[in-house]
Amino acid sequence: MQLTILGCGGALPAYGRYPSAQILNTNECSILIDCGEGAQMKMQQYKVKQNRIHHVCISHMHGDHYFGLVGFINSQGLLGRTQTLNIYAPAKLKEIIALQTEWKLPFEIIYHDLLENKYAVLFENEKLKIEAFPVEHSVPTHGFKFTKKVKLRSLLPNKLREYEIPKYFYSKLADGEDYERQDGTIIKNELVTIEGKGNKSYAYCSDTRYTESIIPYIKNVNLLYHEATYLHELAERAHERHHSTTTEAASIAKLAQVDQLIIGHYSSKYKTLEGFKEEATIVFNNVLLAEEDLVVNI
Ligand SMILES: [Zn+2]
Ligand SMILES: [Zn+2]
Repeated sequence: MQLTILGCGGALPAYGRYPSAQILNTNECSILIDCGEGAQMKMQQYKVKQNRIHHVCISHMHGDHYFGLVGFINSQGLLGRTQTLNIYAPAKLKEIIALQTEWKLPFEIIYHDLLENKYAVLFENEKLKIEAFPVEHSVPTHGFKFTKKVKLRSLLPNKLREYEIPKYFYSKLADGEDYERQDGTIIKNELVTIEGKGNKSYAYCSDTRYTESIIPYIKNVNLLYHEATYLHELAERAHERHHSTTTEAASIAKLAQVDQLIIGHYSSKYKTLEGFKEEATIVFNNVLLAEEDLVVNI
């Protein structure tokens, strides 16, 4: 998977930082995660293939996370999009979109309501799983976890030929099954496969106060995005405003034993991001700063 940051700012756009928006590219489609104002311009700048976006996940109903969505939907209509768009968001969002897209769009939007304080599997097929889980913010808010499923075993083409395994059985081999010939001989799975690379996972937690309640949902992910609106000297303000600090984001990453942490959603009070990485790195040693145009391979 590949993550592109379109916006990493907090509530107010500031110092060139756009509000929250990200694109997660999987092999089969792209997912738009939050869609703050200006996201479309950033998508154009980074040459994001917008018709590959099949899923849109909106964490909560604060404008810095969805004000760009109506523009995106309208543009997709003007461009003649035909593919269905799935939107996972609080129920209110569909009224807002309906009000602002009164013309008949050439594509279908399917809304999936996020229920307050509830965990849900939003989408699952054999390659991808999208889950939502509650975080702690001033309005109902969800974090998301995206898992790209990789088969348990990787096939060895020359061995498949050598043992004359029929093609219809390949996906079962990838699931770890042995092959039984018509005469009853068993071809052990290990003879024709090797261990697969394992699933890849990404979790997005914004906006949220420090809460350990999210740990079971994000445990061991390869990459965690956790908001860090403030430096830690403003921990009290972060708590009051239902946001987190650098140190808190890093503590969550450490407790959840993730491979890598990326922080963002910086307050507009900070002209530069000096100190953000240093503070987080004291607690957790693999930290990236979200910045527009950053691309991370997962
Ligand atoms: Zn926000
Ligand atoms: Zn918010």
